[in-house]
This record gives sequence, C-alpha cells and structure tokens, in this order.
Amino acid sequence: MNSEEIAMLCANMSLTEKDGPVQRLHTDLRTVGIQRMALCLVGKVITNKMVNREAFLGLIGRIWQVEEGLEVEVVRHNIFTFHFHSIGDRRHVLEDGTWTFDGALIVLAEPAGKGAIEDLRFDCSKFGVQTHCVPLVCMTKEIGRFLGGMVREVVEVDVGKSRECSGKFLRVRMRIDVNIPLRWCLRVDVMRDGEETVMVLPYECLPNHCFRCGRIGHSTQNCPNPTLRMEAGGGEDLPFGASLRAFGPEKLVGQKGRRGNNFNRNSSVRYAQEKTVERKCGDATVTSVGRGEHGVFGY
Ligand SMILES: [Zn+2]
Repeated sequence: MNSEEIAMLCANMSLTEKDGPVQRLHTDLRTVGIQRMALCLVGKVITNKMVNREAFLGLIGRIWQVEEGLEVEVVRHNIFTFHFHSIGDRRHVLEDGTWTFDGALIVLAEPAGKGAIEDLRFDCSKFGVQTHCVPLVCMTKEIGRFLGGMVREVVEVDVGKSRECSGKFLRVRMRIDVNIPLRWCLRVDVMRDGEETVMVLPYECLPNHCFRCGRIGHSTQNCPNPTLRMEAGGGEDLPFGASLRAFGPEKLVGQKGRRGNNFNRNSSVRYAQEKTVERKCGDATVTSVGRGEHGVFGY
C-alpha cells in the first residue's frame, strides 16, 4: 500500500471511542518536532514524467552544494522531503538560484503548522527575469519594480554599480506562478501618448517548458492542449520558444567565495555567478543552476 492509498484509507475511516481516546501531545515533544521541521523543506519536481528517483536522491545534495548534510525522502510521485542539518543550507536552497533536475523545475515549499504535506502548494518559484528593449527613460530601479509587477511579485530589482539600472536590460528577481503560461513580453505606454512599447522578457535558468502554450511541466510534444499540439511549426518560431531563455550576465569575473544570493541584498556590485552543472546518471541528465562561485559583472 503506497502513501496515497494509506491517506485515502485514513480519510474514509469512521473512528469511534473503541479506537482509543484522543491523547494530547506533550509540549516538549511537540517543540522538538517544530525545531526539526524548521530545518525541513518539501519539494516537487514539476514534470508529467516520473523522475529518476535513484539519481535524484543521489545527486540533489551535491547539486545544492549542501555543506552540513541532508536527508531526502520520497513522499509520493515527484514530491520529496528534505531535512537539512543547518539553517544556512536550508536558506541557501530556498533563496538562491532556480533549481532544476533533468531540466524540470523543482518547486520548494516551507511546511507550516503541523506540516501536513497535503496542504502544501507548489505554485511559485523564484526566477531571474530580464527585460529587454527597455527605453532609457525606463532604466530606473522604481520602473524596474513597476515592470516586474506587471508579471508577478517582485522580490528584488538588480542594480548596477551606480545603484541604478544603467545596463542594456533590466534584471528583476521575481516569484512566478508556475501553473500559468510564462509571459514573454510587456506592453507599456511609456509616455502616456498612446504609443505602445513592447519589452521582451527572457528568463534566466529557464526549465523545460512547452514552446506552444508557455507552461512549465510538459514538453512541446506532450502539450495537453490538442489544438496547439496539432499546429505546425518549428521550435524557434513558436510563441514561447528559445527567445524566452536568457543568457547570463556578461563580463563575469570569477571570484571564489562562500555561497550567496544572485541578487545582492545590500545593492553592492558583487553577485553570484549562476553556474550550470550537468551530470549523467543512468538515463537522466541532471542539470542544476546554482552557484559555486561569486562573480562581479558590469554592464
Ligand atoms: Zn503546452
């Protein structure tokens, strides 16, 4: 009997006093459980295929560059629990980078309350999103936040050496709803004169997604929308094709250091270099985007 069948069995049980009285859990026991849960994350690999569990269990700690140990357990299908040994490792995994496994996005959730996994929602993930074709008048941190808000919740706006946005594009870290199609452009009336400016949105560390409907979690060939699936056309000219994939920041100057955030919180010019790691394990190609090096990039 698997975990889903057990959960269904419990849900359908009619319990009576004959099944034993309700016991209140001792506070000190609960406290230990809460402390352990504070080091825990739950993750779901967003794909309509079953992931290679053996490869995942063996490699995810190395992909995340966990420093003080990690235990991983399969919950069901592509959902896993991660028990970290340090709060620093947990914070690094939760806040840094956009994580993928075999090209599929890993969405992480923080258990709360009793930590019921069935109550967790794996809806949102952080992405670095670039905004290209931005007129100079829009190259400010505040407008970056406004434009990012047109897509979803802005976490942080990247700024250059001047602490303003002076590069070739705006770069915003934001929380994206993975259940809706990716947005590939913004239409903005900059001067409020009726003239539309179209700004293009490449995503950094973009996982596998459907070039036809723009959703994460299935391939273009397996799009569940039959109308879109039947349409002819190559990958490059589909609406959510290769143009959605951003290249990393330019002029990276490698500098070894401890782990940090891609978007530096104190607005200095030091950033983590996004690092892609690919390994072969069985029939799975394991790709991670995280950071092992720090770098400084200029525009
Ligand atoms: Zn699709």
